[in-house]
Amino acid sequence: MVMAEPSSDGRFGEFGGRFVPESLVAACEELEAAFRTAWSDPVFVAEFHRVLKDYGGRPSPVTEAAQLSKKLGLRLLLKREDLNHTGSHKINNVVGQALLAARMGKTKLVAETGAGQHGVATATAAAMMGMECKVYMGAVDVERQALNVFRMQLLGAEVVPVESGSRTLKDAVNEAMRHWVAVVEDTHYCLGSVMGPHPYPWMVREFHRVIGDEAREQCAALLDGGVPDVVTACVGGGSNAAGLFSGFADSDAELVGVEPAGGAAVTRGVPGVVHGMLSYLMQDEDGQVLEAQSISAGLDYPGVGPEHAHLAKTGRATYETVTDAEVIDAFGLLSRTEGIIPALESAHALAWVVRDERLRGKTVLLNLSGRGDKDVNQMMDILK
Ligand SMILES: *Cc1c(COP(=O)(O)O)cnc(C)c1O
Repeated sequence: MVMAEPSSDGRFGEFGGRFVPESLVAACEELEAAFRTAWSDPVFVAEFHRVLKDYGGRPSPVTEAAQLSKKLGLRLLLKREDLNHTGSHKINNVVGQALLAARMGKTKLVAETGAGQHGVATATAAAMMGMECKVYMGAVDVERQALNVFRMQLLGAEVVPVESGSRTLKDAVNEAMRHWVAVVEDTHYCLGSVMGPHPYPWMVREFHRVIGDEAREQCAALLDGGVPDVVTACVGGGSNAAGLFSGFADSDAELVGVEPAGGAAVTRGVPGVVHGMLSYLMQDEDGQVLEAQSISAGLDYPGVGPEHAHLAKTGRATYETVTDAEVIDAFGLLSRTEGIIPALESAHALAWVVRDERLRGKTVLLNLSGRGDKDVNQMMDILK
């Protein structure tokens, strides 16, 4: 079955697994067992959905983008994850992991962050749960993302600058994992996307499944019980796309992930091991992991979740790339035509919908993964 549980060793086809030092194996096994029990416990699942509703603002609506549909000659539906508390889909995952951590008796969360969005989300969930929170962030990103550093501090989290390697996201992940080994007794590692060692890619997808399940029902109501022709989302690590796709994997809908041209792990990457998983990643000829380059800091991840590698390899999903220039146009277009300023990440998926002539006349469901307020300063510098 497509997008079912991975194999017992955490594989989606040939991808995934658990490539971690001996010292982390027990922690991953403990987490896997705890998640498996919690996720089949109706009390835990009900509490998860209650918090997402009362605190997170779910369900998020599906909006008919009438003006833009007319302009493009298709029917565009937007799944509005931008309307969630903290402004993106990320709240689903951090609420799920924080509740699970509490159930496991842990009192502290540790997380990695690149642009700062996942750090802010984790700090939010920690504050809501009365937990301590430590966020590892590359020193370069600490400087570039001063506002998010302050947000995390405001929420009561400690931000730890990482000085190793290129001092960006991939180094922050390594450092967070290293820290976790030492403090696993009372600390949960709240990983930010469908990546890392088993059970993270599976667990994080399950916490985001709510996006796809809601959208499936909402589309059925709009489309006489049918599904859209095409279901699309942007792909960094791949969590918002995995959540959306999981609601449509068993249908006829075409699934399309959209990557930045400068961070196209599925489209241009090669199989390799990074951050505890086997997946596609961007490497140079010597096998060094490359820095991803994109206008959107939230998509600057050189790898991709292993389930996307599997979906691509089996052909159940396809992956497209868009350039920064196309993204900038799409960002302005949605703002003007619909009164919705999208996150630059989400604008990637829209940029592909705008470009691809093959979509004319079709019904397209697009995951609007986040709101663009965080990006207006950057866009003002570019567009003015
Ligand atoms: C973090 C983020 C992404 C990228 O993460 P995925 O795991 O690929 O979903 C996309 N959109 C928004 C708004 C984000 O904050």
